[in-house]
Amino acid sequence: MKEKIVSSTAVLREAWQAHGDGLVYPCSFGGESSVLLDLIHRAELPIQVLTLDTGRLPQATYDFIDEVRRYYAMDVRIVFPDYREVETMLLQYGPNLFLASAELRKHCCEIRKVHPLQRVLKDKTAWITGRRREQSKGREHIQVRESDNVYGLIKYNPLLDWSWEEIRQYIDGHDIPYNHLLDQHYVSIGCECCTRAITVGEDPRAGRWWWENEDTLAECGLHVTSIRRGSGENEQGEGI
Ligand code: SF4
Repeated sequence: MKEKIVSSTAVLREAWQAHGDGLVYPCSFGGESSVLLDLIHRAELPIQVLTLDTGRLPQATYDFIDEVRRYYAMDVRIVFPDYREVETMLLQYGPNLFLASAELRKHCCEIRKVHPLQRVLKDKTAWITGRRREQSKGREHIQVRESDNVYGLIKYNPLLDWSWEEIRQYIDGHDIPYNHLLDQHYVSIGCECCTRAITVGEDPRAGRWWWENEDTLAECGLHVTSIRRGSGENEQGEGI
């Protein structure tokens, strides 16, 4: 664990030194976020932290954001979708469009998450994610530093080799703020309506869009690859 803390901190420092204000951390405020925020704080790195407020986040996530702002005296930029796009989408398809089809679910993710992220990454050169190799087979190949073909940026994955147990161990051992949905067996946390707890032995990503057919492409579009859920290849966003 100590070695992982040292090497993850070194990656964060390297990213900051290489990119300065061009670096941003779009934080999902899930489990990995606690570790990254704490490492950033301890290393005194003035990395810009932001989160995408889709308008449908769980109350526990808002509570966690508030706690982080107080505990670390940290600015967290909260980024919203374009209200005109949301209004048009709701007028056309209604508020629960994500239940109607995989296409409409992706459309909702596109409007509420992908477009705002594209907006904030426009002037950036690099971003940090909380992706880990063990999250899915589709993530086994990712590297600590990657070229992001979607956004044309460098992507840093400082927690790549951390296990879920180590994430929990770090949170509990350092007594730091965390999303209390973790205590209810939520592993991957996104919008309230699209996130559920998982049971023992379930894939960590099984708590997202669980109503969709196993053969449906399950992706939110925040990261490069979209791979088939349930087929042993699974690649989605960090949990935003
Ligand atoms: S996770 Fe659900 S509510 Fe959130 S943006 Fe995607 S489809 Fe919409």
